[in-house]
Amino acid sequence: MLDILRRIVQDINATRNLSEALNLIVVEVKGAIHTDVCSVYMTDHTRGEHVLMATDGLRPGAVGKVRLKFDQGLTGLAASRAEPVNVDNAPAHPAFRYIAATGEAPFHGFIGVPIIRRRKVLGVLVAQQREQRKYTADEESFLVTLAAQLAGCITQVEIRQALERLGDDALSGTLFLEGVASARGVALGEAVVVFPATALERAPDKDIDNPEAEAARFRQAVAAELAELQRLSERMRLLLSAGDRALFDAYALLLSSDSLVNGTLERIQAGNWAPGALRATVLEYANIFAEMDDPYLRERAADILDLGQRLLDRLQDEQIVNRDYPDNTILMGDEISVSQLLDVPQEKIKGLVSVRGTSTSHVALLARGLGIPAVFGVSNLPPGRLNGREVAVDGYTMRVCIQPSPALRQEYLKLINEEAELSRGLQHLRDLPAETLDGHRVDLYANSGLFADIAAARNSGVQGVGLYRSELHFFLRDRFPNEEEQTTIYTRVLRIMDPHPVVLRTLDIGGDKPLPYFPIAEQNPFLGWRGIRISLDQPDLFKTQLRAMLRAGTAYANLSILLPMISTVSELRDALDLLNCAKEGLQEEGVPVRMPPIGIMVEVPSAVWQIDQLIRMVDFASIGSNDLTQYLLAVDRNNDRVAKLYDSLHPVVLAATRHVIEQSRAAGRPISVCGEMAGDPAAALLLLAMGVDSLSMNLGSLLKIKWMIRSVRYEETQALLAEVLELDTATAIRERANIFLDQQGLSGLLRVGK
Ligand code: PEP
Ligand code: MG
Repeated sequence: MLDILRRIVQDINATRNLSEALNLIVVEVKGAIHTDVCSVYMTDHTRGEHVLMATDGLRPGAVGKVRLKFDQGLTGLAASRAEPVNVDNAPAHPAFRYIAATGEAPFHGFIGVPIIRRRKVLGVLVAQQREQRKYTADEESFLVTLAAQLAGCITQVEIRQALERLGDDALSGTLFLEGVASARGVALGEAVVVFPATALERAPDKDIDNPEAEAARFRQAVAAELAELQRLSERMRLLLSAGDRALFDAYALLLSSDSLVNGTLERIQAGNWAPGALRATVLEYANIFAEMDDPYLRERAADILDLGQRLLDRLQDEQIVNRDYPDNTILMGDEISVSQLLDVPQEKIKGLVSVRGTSTSHVALLARGLGIPAVFGVSNLPPGRLNGREVAVDGYTMRVCIQPSPALRQEYLKLINEEAELSRGLQHLRDLPAETLDGHRVDLYANSGLFADIAAARNSGVQGVGLYRSELHFFLRDRFPNEEEQTTIYTRVLRIMDPHPVVLRTLDIGGDKPLPYFPIAEQNPFLGWRGIRISLDQPDLFKTQLRAMLRAGTAYANLSILLPMISTVSELRDALDLLNCAKEGLQEEGVPVRMPPIGIMVEVPSAVWQIDQLIRMVDFASIGSNDLTQYLLAVDRNNDRVAKLYDSLHPVVLAATRHVIEQSRAAGRPISVCGEMAGDPAAALLLLAMGVDSLSMNLGSLLKIKWMIRSVRYEETQALLAEVLELDTATAIRERANIFLDQQGLSGLLRVGK
């Protein structure tokens, strides 16, 4: 049965439109369970009807004509109950409804299985038989399993079809696709798809007549790639440190080595065309590396494959590099890498959309840092079909609109203008304090993680960097940066911001952020080896980082160190011991280090409930609401299926946050919030009322939050807080907070909420 299921799903995925897919389903299912009839009804939600869309066994003329009210007949019963209806004698059932057009009178056995996606009934899969008997339990579970898979396939086919319709006539409709994470802002532009045409592993072999010409073509591709790597490395000089650009140098080295190039040329001389010769050579070398004992060399296999793919893209003339990007580029792809993002000149990139990627993937953090609106996790996105189309990216609603109608287009342009106006209008707040009308002050800091966004932060007059995610520098390399390299990075960060404070967070990898050269395969990565847990288990890596931070702190006095993912007192004790050890080691070497303020991230429920002990061991704490929300609500912060459940305004998240703020204040320690909550106006309003000392957020939100703070009275926000703490859902709390913002004349901020 499993094979049949797989085959049906595969066949459907190869169809071009919905009716072809449905016709295929009915024929295949009818054959698979040896029944007399199989039909599919699709639900038209606007009219509240199920429409017969395909059948094998009923009168073909009934297709498209038979329409059942939502809960009419046994089919309607299956849909309205959202469960299978399996009866031996349909005409005898009270819900049975005879429909002459289908010619179904002689059938007795009936089974209807709803096709459901994300709680929504898309249609009903129906089988009927002459015989008076119930379908067996096996048949029923086959149909249920198939229906569960069909839901996804049907959505895909519908999107493909909708895209084709858009191609025929731009006015015929607009297609919206939803993502799970975003970088806020709205953009309108032309889709530029970065998507390898063929995966390297699938590049076919092909005989050629003229090996000389093919060899020349390949040599040209290699030369162009070398030049491109040089160009990328140069371009990134402005954005990344020399160490961060090391990856490009490693690629260049691989390309200059004889084996890869000569191996391919030899195969070309033997009569294979370049893509096939390249595939064979690259896979051969990648396998040799993959089998090596040394973990560092083993990891080089991934670089060889990546480089092979880049060369193949070039050979296929589908390369993403060196292209003429339109002035309003919306970069799209299955997965967009940092180098692909940085390849587009900054003035040309307007937005970003990807199938994969999450709010914390480094490309997302970079997009946010650079103020590029983006939507990630658009699982239905068919990038292969979107090149050149006009696309709107709405980072507020996490939606992508393909070929917006003229009216929608106007709407997006209006939003873009309003945003720009709002930002311009807020510029005068740059150097003013974030102080409420009745004199309560909060410090506002920026989140950062690269040189590019920290420089932008400095230029926009922020009070400091409240969270510097050090792992971003680790992501952009092909090995762990050594102490010297890290010292250079941290010193540069401190220098750029000096004298404003910078909170450097120690490595927070694991979870959804595995390093390419330090793979961690786990069933439950978010509950696994992550953040401080890795640092404590790899004291060599941790101490190197701490030494580098402390050394950077000798030149500039604006350093603080933040420890991520602390969940127990003993973890914190161990981390502080290692820190002392690093300090003493440096002192013994004659380096004049001082101990900077040390803080912990509060982002795990156990840290919330032990905050009174933990906070007394350190100088400050920062609430990581991104993780705290996911751990308190048991909602994976990157999973689109449960994204609706993820809300930092959930009463329990607010209660936990309030507890941490109160306990920290009682202990006389500064407390901040550095998760996305800090940049969400409704949430920031409540955090302000709770007495938080500082908020650290992406730069794009900073002036908006400052405007909000300067427009309200602290006393009134406290009254609001008391009121919302009585409410029992995030939705009710958000609504109430938004009404408050509206009443303060801050309706311009409302869109920037969740
Ligand atoms: C958080 O969890 O809120 C946080 C700021 O850290 P990160 O998003 O990097 O996990
Ligand atoms: Mg976190």
